[in-house]
Amino acid sequence: MRKVVGILAPITVILAAWVLAAKAESFSDVTQTLITVIPYVIALLAVFMSIWYQNSNSFYLVCFILVSYIFISVSQKHLPMLVEAVTMLSILFPVNTIWLSFSKERGILSTYGRNKALIIAAQLIWVFINIRIKSNVPLDQGIEQVYIGIKVPALILYILAVGILLSCYILRNRYMDLIYVAVLISSIIAFYLSNRIVLASIFISAIFVIMVIAMFDVSYSLAFYDTLTGVLSRRALEQELLKLGDRKYIIAMVDLDYFKKINDSYGHDIGDEVLKMVASVLNKTLQKAKVFRYGGEEFVVLFVGRGYNEVMKQLELVRRTIEKRPFIIRSDNRPVKKPDEPAKYSKSKGKGKINITVSIGLAQKTDSLKTSYDVIKKADEALYKSKQSGRNCITSA
Ligand code: GH3
Ligand code: MG
Ligand code: MG
Repeated sequence: MRKVVGILAPITVILAAWVLAAKAESFSDVTQTLITVIPYVIALLAVFMSIWYQNSNSFYLVCFILVSYIFISVSQKHLPMLVEAVTMLSILFPVNTIWLSFSKERGILSTYGRNKALIIAAQLIWVFINIRIKSNVPLDQGIEQVYIGIKVPALILYILAVGILLSCYILRNRYMDLIYVAVLISSIIAFYLSNRIVLASIFISAIFVIMVIAMFDVSYSLAFYDTLTGVLSRRALEQELLKLGDRKYIIAMVDLDYFKKINDSYGHDIGDEVLKMVASVLNKTLQKAKVFRYGGEEFVVLFVGRGYNEVMKQLELVRRTIEKRPFIIRSDNRPVKKPDEPAKYSKSKGKGKINITVSIGLAQKTDSLKTSYDVIKKADEALYKSKQSGRNCITSA
């Protein structure tokens, strides 16, 4: 559902921009002037949000687009300047988008962030100098030449950039890649309409709106998704529990066995990788349930409207899948110091393998359990029994 909304949001913004652009030239002069101011307002919001979330890639992309818009606006009265601005910016735009989409996120003002600032600033100064040079060219060029502004190399770069980002979106399933595609599409339309500033402003505004949506998505993810494992967060669980009401549900607590020893023997980083693997098995195996990271190495699974036998079957499948799938330590993950002695939990003879097991406790909502917290408590007690019974098993309260 969230994915569908995520895909529809940028498409809707571009379509809305299109509808508005179709009518914009019949608006009064005052309205048209106001429209040309909108990009600045939304850009301000986008800049503020990217600083707030320390998202340097969005920050520098927004800055680049904003300055590009200023160049296009000030070049309106002098077509040779506008042609030059569009020619240069339409080449730099897809290049910067691809670069920033692959660039590591390390804050806005870190050395890494400052280098990004230097690269963007150098490009913009170069564009500015070239536009200034064109201000001496006599005004004898026709409007058509603005369309020639988007040259074949820029078009090829745009097609390449959209192709790469779409492939990345499909492969990595990273929402930001889709956002960059939408940004590219809006920007090329804005460049084509750059000699009609009101229309260009509408599509530039659309870019900033799309970037703001992306940053809202980031803030949502930060609140409701666990950053390490990618499953839902404890905060999301609290929200979900509030919605349950009188519905029939089952809660399972899943806890990794002897996890402290994995950390002690192989290091915290490998521990993190193991947690990610378990979370991924839970997510993939339990399609009709919601998986939350409850804290540390404990997960809560919520089954709403599912029968007890079905739930037991699914949890047993999870337990066996994790038991059968050892965690393989890749060479770049190997600990600097070898574990002193083979850990007790590891049944594997292989050097780079860690055998993992989980213990599970579950409880059903009944009339005697008044709140969802009572159900969680019962599930926790059942988990404790699983641990007492030797671990790697399921106990029902
Ligand atoms: P038991 O079988 O009884 O559950 O034993 P255990 O060692 O799994 O349980 P214990 O509660 O003693 O230890 C849990 C450990 O999980 C302690 C903590 O260092 C580790 N841990 C908690 N959160 C994280 C995390 O995000 N990453 C890593 N690598 N370790 C974590
Ligand atoms: Mg544990
Ligand atoms: Mg625990």
